[in-house]
Amino acid sequence: MIICDDKKCTGCAACFNVCPKGCIAMTFNERNELSPTIDADKCVNCGACQRVCPVNKLVEKIPSAKCYACYAPEERDSSSSGGIAAELAKLFISKGDCVCGAVYENGTVHHKIVESEEELPKLKGSKYVQSYIDDIYKQIKVKLKDKNVLFVGTPCQVAGLRNFVGRSDRLYCVDLICHGGTSHRYLDAILPKKDGELSFRKNGDIAVRLDDDVVKYSGEYIAAFLKMMSYRECCYSCRYADTERVGDITLGDFWGIKDFPETEKGVSIALVNTEKGTAMFDAIKSGLYCEERQLNEALGGNPQLSRPSIPHKHRDLFMKTVNRKGFVKAVHKSMKKEMVKLTIKKIVFSSKLLTKLYGALR
Ligand SMILES: Cc1cc2nc3c(=O)[nH]c(=O)nc-3n(C[C@H](O)[C@H](O)[C@H](O)COP(=O)(O)OP(=O)(O)OC[C@H]3O[C@@H](n4cnc5c(N)ncnc54)[C@H](O)[C@@H]3O)c2cc1C
Ligand code: SF4
Ligand code: SF4
Ligand code: SF4
Repeated sequence: MIICDDKKCTGCAACFNVCPKGCIAMTFNERNELSPTIDADKCVNCGACQRVCPVNKLVEKIPSAKCYACYAPEERDSSSSGGIAAELAKLFISKGDCVCGAVYENGTVHHKIVESEEELPKLKGSKYVQSYIDDIYKQIKVKLKDKNVLFVGTPCQVAGLRNFVGRSDRLYCVDLICHGGTSHRYLDAILPKKDGELSFRKNGDIAVRLDDDVVKYSGEYIAAFLKMMSYRECCYSCRYADTERVGDITLGDFWGIKDFPETEKGVSIALVNTEKGTAMFDAIKSGLYCEERQLNEALGGNPQLSRPSIPHKHRDLFMKTVNRKGFVKAVHKSMKKEMVKLTIKKIVFSSKLLTKLYGALR
C-alpha cells in the first residue's frame, strides 16, 4: 500500500500517529529521509493513513493579515532570532496550558510537550535538523481534552498535526518560515556524544555547538544546510514556501530590515494570520519592541516566503556519495569550493587565536 507520492512525503508522521493497528514505522529511506514503512501483515486497509496525509488532503492556507518586525527584550539573547516563540510559550504556561516544541534530549531533537516554566529553556533556539515527531500528535490530542496547546514547528508538521487533530478551538499553531529539513542521520554523523546542550545560533554566529564547544565537522554540516544541499526531496517543491500560511502565527528572521534598532541582536518577522493568532499576539505585544511593516519588505530578505529552496547544483553527486562514503566525505566531494573557503576561514581564525595567545604569553 502507498500512502502518498514518496518524493512529496514530508515525514510529518500524521500517518504513523493515526494508524489504528500500529503497523506503520517511521524509518529512514534510501535518501536518509524519515518515512513510513507499513507492515503489510498487520495492515487492514482501512485507508486512515491516506486520508490524514497532508499530501493527499491539503490543509487550508491563509493569507497573512498583518506583518510585524519585533523582538522580546527579555528573551532574544537566549533565542535564535527575536525571542517571540519564547514569549508565546511563557504566555501559555502562565495560564496553566501546554507548549509543544523541539528539544534536544538523549541525543535526539524531537518534539516534546512542556507544562512547566522550568522546562521552557529547552524549547528555545532553532535546531536546524528535522525533529522527530514520534507519537506527539496523539499526546497533543489527549491534552486538548482539557487544555489549550501551543504547537511550534515547521509548516509541514503543523499541517500533519492539523489533519490529525481536526477542528479544535484549543489548538494554537505557530509555523516557522522554513527553507528545508536536514536528516537527523547527518547530524548524528557529526555529533561526538549524545548528551549536553545543543545549539546552532549564538552571538550572531551559526555553528553546531555542544555545551558551547563547536563540534568537529560543524562547518560541513552548516554549509550543507545553508547551501541547500542536505534537505528532504520534498523541500525543493515545498507547498508551504508562501505568504499564505498554515499557522495562526508565522515566525522567521526579518533579514535585511532597514531603519530598525539593534538588528545585529536579532529581529523576528511575525505574520499574524488568524483570529487566534491575533489574540495570542495582542496578549504578548506590550512586552515586545514591535513595528508594523509591509509584507513586501519581508519578501526581499526571505525567499522562502515566495518560493521553495533551489537544490545545490551538485546535490545529485552528494546524494550518490553520502551512503557510500559517509556525510563528511560527501560534503567535501560535492562542495569543493565551499570547503576551500571554510578551510581558509579556519586557518585565519586559528592564526588570530595564536596571535592572541602569543600576545598573552609575552
Ligand atoms: C529547520 C528550520 C529552518 C528554518 N528556516 C528559516 C528560514 O529559511 N528563514 C527564516 O526566516 N527562518 C527560518 N527558521 C526560523 C528561525 O530559525 C527562528 O526559529 C524563528 O525566526 C523564530 O525565532 P525565535 O527567536 O522566536 O525562536 P527560537 O529561539 O528560534 O525558537 C524556535 C521555536 O521553534 C521550535 N523549533 C526549534 N527547532 C525546531 C525544529 N527543528 N523543528 C521544528 N520546530 C523547531 C522550538 O521549539 C521553539 O519553540 C527555521 C527554523 C527551523 C527549525
Ligand atoms: S491502511 Fe489502516 S491499518 Fe493499514 S497502514 Fe494505513 S492506517 Fe494502518
Ligand atoms: S502523513 Fe506525512 S509522513 Fe505520512 S506519508 Fe503523508 S507526508 Fe509522509
Ligand atoms: S521546506 Fe517545507 S517540506 Fe521541507 S521541512 Fe520545511 S516546511 Fe517541511
